[in-house]
Amino acid sequence: MTVLPADAVTELIRVLPADQVLTDPDVMATYSRDHTFLQPGKPLCVVLARHRDDVVATMRWASAHRIPVVPRGAGTGVSGGATATDGCVVLTLDRMTAIVELNPEDELAVVEPGVITADLDRAARAHGLMYAPDPGSYEISSIGGNLATNAGGLRCVKYGVTRDSVLGLEAVLADGRVMATGRRTLKGVAGYDLTSLFVGSEGTLGVITSATLRLRRAPLVPPATVAAEFPDVRTAAAASGAIVSAGLRPSMLELLDRMGLQAIDDMRSIGLGANVGAMLLIQCDDPDPQPGAEEMAKLCRQAGASFVAVSSDEAESAELIGIRRMAYPALERLGQLLPEDVCVPRSALSEMIERIAAISASSGVPIGCAAHAGDGNLHPVFVFDRGLPEPPPEIWAAAEEVFRAALDLGGTLTGEHGVGVLKRRWLELETGPVVADVQRSIKHALDPLGILNPGKAI
Ligand SMILES: Cc1cc2nc3c(=O)[nH]c(=O)nc-3n(C[C@H](O)[C@H](O)[C@H](O)COP(=O)(O)OP(=O)(O)OC[C@H]3O[C@@H](n4cnc5c(N)ncnc54)[C@H](O)[C@@H]3O)c2cc1C
Repeated sequence: MTVLPADAVTELIRVLPADQVLTDPDVMATYSRDHTFLQPGKPLCVVLARHRDDVVATMRWASAHRIPVVPRGAGTGVSGGATATDGCVVLTLDRMTAIVELNPEDELAVVEPGVITADLDRAARAHGLMYAPDPGSYEISSIGGNLATNAGGLRCVKYGVTRDSVLGLEAVLADGRVMATGRRTLKGVAGYDLTSLFVGSEGTLGVITSATLRLRRAPLVPPATVAAEFPDVRTAAAASGAIVSAGLRPSMLELLDRMGLQAIDDMRSIGLGANVGAMLLIQCDDPDPQPGAEEMAKLCRQAGASFVAVSSDEAESAELIGIRRMAYPALERLGQLLPEDVCVPRSALSEMIERIAAISASSGVPIGCAAHAGDGNLHPVFVFDRGLPEPPPEIWAAAEEVFRAALDLGGTLTGEHGVGVLKRRWLELETGPVVADVQRSIKHALDPLGILNPGKAI
């Protein structure tokens, strides 16, 4: 007997408290989009999970009725991974916000997926520790979303991406079984590394309900920050290359171009000079940060910086790094954004910047560019009219040229944002058919009914 969707929701309300199953269209709409321009579909309902068992009940029910489930963290994703599809259940984990354990001796934390990234970092700092991954969105994104996208951030250049801070996970599989992967130890090779497989799987293999995360010793003294202005983005990229090649270990190495700087200056005056074409914001968190920062400042001057300042004042450093974190909201004031996310080997950063400039010149499409320069991770930003439902064809064409250039230089389509919906059509350009086939086999093994975030990531 076929169960109608409305009957299925009634059945779900029988196994979950009614206030955790939302069906009001306006309320559901607020859980249906992520940070992209994508128009979401109409979900059947939204489930607010408060406990792992709510996720288990939802997945068992969804499997029984073959209803697609879109896991959702804080909805700050920029690739469409958390956008609702027609007839799906949006399963939001944003109420599961407990920091269950913070263990200074083993330098680890056990957390629920809805914990806001910066909250975990703050909690760790109270014990002299830190949670290193810090996406630009760390005040608004959740750990579950960070894990599902293998988020990067500003401090990756020294401490690695989210995957480098994960020891183990608990995930609810498509059929409702609970799987615990990994361990509490730094070492461990028992069986396939399913923890790593789940990190970056964009909600397509299981719903993460708990994570055991690695913490690190927080620096004892405030970091020193270098702000260097350059006449153009190529010179700034050359300085970044010089810092990396010199074997210095910045804890941040960020680049902003004129378009981003101008947008920031327009939003909150930063006293931007007319001749500044680009800026590097660099941080050194060595036990004695000043000598390293001075060395990096020297390399910036040698590469052609027009102005360099070094600050070890904590408030001033935070203000300078705050400039970098403002880039996205500032650019959003110009229109709708297609923020791209290519990553190239660090030695190819300058060449990639040249290629983006050439693509912009030949296509006539303005392309802004911010970068986690120390990782070779560029964010070419395309701005388009707010009235349009999606980027016009000339922007997609220029974006495709950017993707092809990154692949040509040995890079990737996405360094940290994930494939989501937006990059699916180009994915096989990077992976090739064999990897694509293996990925589909893994998906089928874990989710044979194809109910977990269908149409996303692979
Ligand atoms: C201003 C701004 C700056 C940003 N800066 C960065 C940056 O520096 N680096 C970076 O990497 N990203 C950045 N992002 C993108 C975004 O914040 C990250 O992708 C983040 O990891 C998404 O977390 P979220 O909780 O919002 O996840 P969501 O957007 O809710 O979901 C993202 C994906 O994860 C899946 N998912 C969420 N929770 C779970 C779970 N518990 N189990 C299984 N799957 C789940 C969803 O299905 C979806 O596929 C930025 C975004 C903004 C708006």
